[in-house]
Amino acid sequence: MINYNKNEVEVVNGEKANYLIFKKLRKQGVVHAYALKKDDLDFSFGRPNHDLSYDMLFEELGIERDTLVEPVQKHTDVVRCIDKVIDTSELDEVDGLLTNRENITLSSKNADCILLFFYDPVKKVIGDVHSGWKGTFKKIALKTVQKMIDAYKCNPSDIQVYICPSIRKDHFEVDEDIKELCEGIFNYFNLEDIIFKGDIVDGKQKYYIDLVQITKKLLLECKVLEKNIIDSEICSVCEQEEVHSARAEGENFKRGTAIIKL
Ligand SMILES: [Zn+2]
Repeated sequence: MINYNKNEVEVVNGEKANYLIFKKLRKQGVVHAYALKKDDLDFSFGRPNHDLSYDMLFEELGIERDTLVEPVQKHTDVVRCIDKVIDTSELDEVDGLLTNRENITLSSKNADCILLFFYDPVKKVIGDVHSGWKGTFKKIALKTVQKMIDAYKCNPSDIQVYICPSIRKDHFEVDEDIKELCEGIFNYFNLEDIIFKGDIVDGKQKYYIDLVQITKKLLLECKVLEKNIIDSEICSVCEQEEVHSARAEGENFKRGTAIIKL
């Protein structure tokens, strides 16, 4: 059984899909789900089960299938405002989506990367963002909040952020080069909170980076309140029975998805 933050998260084992929801988001009437592993579901682009996987998940949640918007996700820091359903081909260099429209379902995909839901209950704006290590280093979480302020006049103290299952600090092992890159970008943070010394492997010092902690610090930096950052506390590597993990599954890994709709 999956280990998770039971105060904030609930697991639903449906007929067509298994997924988790954030209790606080549901209480506010926001339709959303993070898809867990089930049968052959795989939300990756170009895979035979891509369409079927979204069919099943949307049916399970009772959402109209033609509301789906899917960005390509190329580890950019680009967040796009969506006001109508558009094709993925128009969202090539995009890793985050925002909308204040009701007839649009935003999506993101992962297998270890961080996926974030954003919600402003005052301005009625939702967001869905993919933040892998590259996106995290490019500060996409912070850029999403800035975009919500610029495009929708959101107040950061109203914005809620929900952290889906992702790789956690005990598994994100890197070499000196990535560690130094991280130090260079985040030198204004307390580095002891985000970088940890690992073992020496084949004569090389390894390090661990806490990408979730960096994301939380970026959100606090742009004045999101700590109480409004809700973490599923689910590690994709530890919970690989239920959650897709590129590190655990290897070359032909499958992907999960996070979807959200007003
Ligand atoms: Zn773990």
